[in-house]
Amino acid sequence: MDRQRVLSGMQPSGKVHIGNLVGALRNWVNLQERYDCFYFVADWHALTTGYADPSEIRENTKDLLVNFLAAGLDPEKATIFIQSKVPQHAELHLLLSMITPTGWLERVPSYKEKQQELQDRDLSTYGFLGYPLLQTADIIIYRAQYVPVGVDQVPHLEISREIARRFNFLYKEVFPEPEALLTEFPKVPGLDGRKMSKSYGNAIYLSDPPEVVEQKIRTMMTDPARKRRTDKGDPEQSPVYQLHKVFSSKEELAEVAEGCVTAGIGCIDCKKILIRNVFGYLEPIWTRRAGLLADSETLVEVARRGSRKAGQVAEETMVIVRELMGLA
Ligand code: SF4
Repeated sequence: MDRQRVLSGMQPSGKVHIGNLVGALRNWVNLQERYDCFYFVADWHALTTGYADPSEIRENTKDLLVNFLAAGLDPEKATIFIQSKVPQHAELHLLLSMITPTGWLERVPSYKEKQQELQDRDLSTYGFLGYPLLQTADIIIYRAQYVPVGVDQVPHLEISREIARRFNFLYKEVFPEPEALLTEFPKVPGLDGRKMSKSYGNAIYLSDPPEVVEQKIRTMMTDPARKRRTDKGDPEQSPVYQLHKVFSSKEELAEVAEGCVTAGIGCIDCKKILIRNVFGYLEPIWTRRAGLLADSETLVEVARRGSRKAGQVAEETMVIVRELMGLA
């Protein structure tokens, strides 16, 4: 039986941090064993908010591809490609724009939120308004059944389902309505306890050298109530403990929690355990990153093969769409 199809992409809008790794890429690696996965670098999406300064998009695209592979995505198991190398996405985006009421786009919650968030940019563009439409084209062009998302992103998928439904109603049942493949992501706090995010400057990046990772964890916030070594702490108030939850074993977690509430362990020693575990997790990724960065031929070949395969699948869909829309 054919495996069901999963589609997901990531924007090359900067460096990948361990929150992205644990929250998305690790899940993608698991999914490639069970589904027919299509994973892509969404370089056109990066332009929807970053059009005024595209100087880093090419380099970020390469870096994201390196991180995909370093994190364990396997081009033999999943189709890994670059969005702009499959121009059928743009064609479907255009054709879907003919049938999508603008009101649908204006009421997507992230439209206003992101405009508020990025007030330093002029986002009164069609490209930004049409972002969910391009996203819809990305998904349905592969007739993907599933999109892996966290529970908070489920509403974002609703417009893709509506647009697929509208196309199917107007012309013919072509597109499955994509469903959320819900995944429990562990919360990864940043160095200051807020959500790990590039814009907060509180992230640990996959491209950080080991000494930088070590330094970042050493200076990370702890329970503010634990000012002296002899003060008892509450691990739940400490971002360090939240990171332990992601990277340390159950036994170590129990040990650290007990040590924290009894002042049996100092924050320096507690962080040393975390540093060891984060290193254990990241070391194979660092090694693969170094290998890939030194071997751009492999990268180019992976992107070329993946984009060609994606293009073939996308073209099969477009043949049907063009025919139905009177363009064949
Ligand atoms: S002992 Fe560990 S968990 Fe407790 S406050 Fe210090 S760093 Fe945080």
